[in-house]
Amino acid sequence: SALFPALAAAADGTSDGVRHRPALRFGDRSLTYGGLVSAAGRTAERISGAGRVAVWATPTIETAVGVVAALLAGVPAVPLNPRTGERELAHIVGDSAPRLVLARPGDAVPPVLAGSERIDLRVAGSGDEPAGGCRALPTEPAPEAPALIVYTSGTTGPPKGAVLPRRAIAATLDALADAWAWTGDDVLVQALPLFHVHGLILGVLGPLRRGGSVRHLGRFSAGGVGRELAAGGTMLFGVPTMYHRLAESVDGDPELAKSLAGARLLVSGSAALPVHDHERLFAATGRRVVERYGMTETLMNTSVRVDGEPCPGSVGRPLPGVELRLVEEDGSEITDLDGETVGEIQVRGPNLFTGYLNRPDATAAAFDGDWFRTGDMAVRAPDGQVRIVGRKATDLIKSGGYKIGAGEIENALLEHPRVREAAVTGEPDADLGERVVAWVVPADPADPPSEDELADHVASQLAPHKRPRTVRFLDTLPRNDMGKIMKRALAHG
Ligand code: ATP
Ligand code: MG
Repeated sequence: SALFPALAAAADGTSDGVRHRPALRFGDRSLTYGGLVSAAGRTAERISGAGRVAVWATPTIETAVGVVAALLAGVPAVPLNPRTGERELAHIVGDSAPRLVLARPGDAVPPVLAGSERIDLRVAGSGDEPAGGCRALPTEPAPEAPALIVYTSGTTGPPKGAVLPRRAIAATLDALADAWAWTGDDVLVQALPLFHVHGLILGVLGPLRRGGSVRHLGRFSAGGVGRELAAGGTMLFGVPTMYHRLAESVDGDPELAKSLAGARLLVSGSAALPVHDHERLFAATGRRVVERYGMTETLMNTSVRVDGEPCPGSVGRPLPGVELRLVEEDGSEITDLDGETVGEIQVRGPNLFTGYLNRPDATAAAFDGDWFRTGDMAVRAPDGQVRIVGRKATDLIKSGGYKIGAGEIENALLEHPRVREAAVTGEPDADLGERVVAWVVPADPADPPSEDELADHVASQLAPHKRPRTVRFLDTLPRNDMGKIMKRALAHG
């Protein structure tokens, strides 16, 4: 029941093949499984017994080694966003109170971490092999032991620390392996931040659990993705803003189109993938991007099937072991899957967190018995496919007796050739209750489309009551480091 069987095999020295297998590559620096056991094992000995460690989560091999070390030592790790603002960092550090902070020797950590003892993360040279032969790994902690404390993205309020037990990490990674036929032969390409579930748990711990490898670009570029896929990468994990940039680049770049077409799996998550980008990538590569839906508290809930069901706009069906239900405002479960009735997604399964750190009130409020209330609204088609309408807090607009999802209006706006980016919110309206407001970044700022042109376009594609009453033009949309649109910032100007 080891979280990382391949690391255990590399450590006990019974399988020489595993020790020499590639595990991590970040830029031009890499570690085999043997090298990782050696590097992480060394750090694990130093931190063992510490209450909680923070990891200064730069997009580097040291971060991966630091997190693996904490997992081996059984010390809960809190990955920190090194680019976050002072106030948010102070909130997270104050909340999680780490005894130690792991950082690269050269990294300046801010004064707010002065209360935590610093431990340097050193990974010798590049392309190392095991320095000192085999290394006995510490005993595997219990499945319910807290493994990671990951802070939510802070899209709807201050980030909350989700306590994730080893059981949840193992369950979600195994469910994805099952759904995606993800094996140790896969080489994952990614360029995600390492302080959220997507880049860290799926993007680094996933390959390690399978005994495969990850190649992290450090910094996303369409060219970099193309090169890594052409050089043996089999899977790509990204957020919608990355797929948008790939869609923009692929048109004039047949090499990139070929690399994307050659990948076994292209996966998008963390936010809704606009249908327009999905279709453009399909047209250019013949590949369907596989969309999956999850969150910090539940890890992964659903995925589209990988055998090519074309379903842009859908996040697929529940993963193996995950139970999902839609619940109406009055608390009743929607049993008739008509593809129209909107309800809140609630989930139950071994993939769930154990609670928010220091927030028993928020934890209690987030559960209905053992069902977790996601705060995401969706409809389900008769075949069980889930289509996310948006977040209850920001994406569901109640206007003139209708419940309107922001997402479909955003998708319609993005299909307009003179629109680069779009977000839709609701604003109080004396007449309608709420009115639909569109925030648009024009494709050509010198020649923006008119408000009416855009509003008419939406009304013609969808329905008259979904017509934006107000259109506001911006230079850019406020986004966080995962590329998610911060609607809080829009609504408050
Ligand atoms: P906070 O909880 O702090 O407000 P957050 O909800 O953005 O921030 P995360 O846990 O990182 O923090 O993100 C999970 C949310 O992202 C989900 O609840 C959902 O709203 C959204 N999401 C994830 N994947 C998808 C997807 N494929 N399609 C649509 N939305 C998605
Ligand atoms: Mg959330």
